[in-house]
Amino acid sequence: MKAISIDSGGTKVVGAVVDDSGNILTRHRIEVVKRDGNCLVEHFKEVISRYLKDYSIDAIGIGGNGRIDPEEGVILDSGVHKNWAGRHLRRELMGLYNGLPISIRNDCHCAIKGESWMGSIHDFETVVGIIIGTGLGGALIENGKFWYGKRYSAGEIGHTILHPDGHPCYCGQRGCTERYVSGTALWKNYNEAVGDEVINSGYEFFDCYRSDDPIAQQCLEEFLDGLKLLMINISNICAPEAILIGGGIADTHALWADRLEQLFVADVGDWLKNTSIVYSSLGNDAAILGAAKFAFELL
Ligand SMILES: [Zn+2]
Repeated sequence: MKAISIDSGGTKVVGAVVDDSGNILTRHRIEVVKRDGNCLVEHFKEVISRYLKDYSIDAIGIGGNGRIDPEEGVILDSGVHKNWAGRHLRRELMGLYNGLPISIRNDCHCAIKGESWMGSIHDFETVVGIIIGTGLGGALIENGKFWYGKRYSAGEIGHTILHPDGHPCYCGQRGCTERYVSGTALWKNYNEAVGDEVINSGYEFFDCYRSDDPIAQQCLEEFLDGLKLLMINISNICAPEAILIGGGIADTHALWADRLEQLFVADVGDWLKNTSIVYSSLGNDAAILGAAKFAFELL
C-alpha cells in the first residue's frame, strides 16, 4: 500500500509518497511565503495531483498546525495561518480525489506517531511527546493511543505556565512555556540579553552557542531549566514510561542532552527518576511517516 503524506508547517509544505513498510519513495518541499490557509490548500492539491499521476495511491495523510478534529477532518483553530481555523479540510479535498480516504491530524501528533511507528518510542506504550521547533507542542500517548481531551486540545504543553508574571502570550495567558522553551525563545532571549536584534533563527543561536558565546550559554541554560520544569510537571501528571523530545531543536541534542538529564534527575521526585528521556530518531521524516501511518489506519 502507498499513501501520499503531507507535512504542513508554518513555513513549508513537504509532500511525500510513503509505503506501508515506512519507506519514503519520493518527496518534494515547497516553501510557504504567505501564512494563509488558502495558499496551503493550493499547495496540498499541487502535491496530491503530482503524485496521483505517478503512483497507485491508497490513502492521503495530512499533518497541519492548530487543533484538529481528526474524526471530521476540521481545523478547529490555529494561531499561525489566516483562512485556516474552521476549515472543513477533509470535505474540501474528499470530492476531488475519487473518495480516497484522507486523514487530517495535528502536525505534532504526526511527528509523535512517526516516532511510535518507526522511531525512538517504538517500544514504549505510555509516552509524553514534547515537540520543540519554532513553537512548543506535544501529545500524550497512553497504551499506544493518543489522549485527545475535550476539543482535541490535550497536550498543549506550550501553554502551560512557566512564569506567572512573564511575557503575554497570543493565547491570552501570561508566561506560557512556549515563550521560554522553543526555538523562537532561544534567539529572542539572546537578542534581549544582548540588547540588539543580532540573530533571528534557532540555527544562528546554535552557531553562537558553538562558538562559546557566554550569553548563548546562559540562554541555553535557562531554556534547559524551563524544559526540565515542564518535564517534571508533566511527569507528575502523566507518569509516562518515556518523554520524547522531538522537533528541530532535537537535532542539536548532542550539545545539551547530558545537562538536561542531570537537571531532571536532580530535581524530579524519586518515583519518577527512572523515566526514560529519548530523542527523535527520524528528524524531519517523523511527521511525514506519522501522517502516512494515520492514513494507512483508515484502510
Ligand atoms: Zn499561551
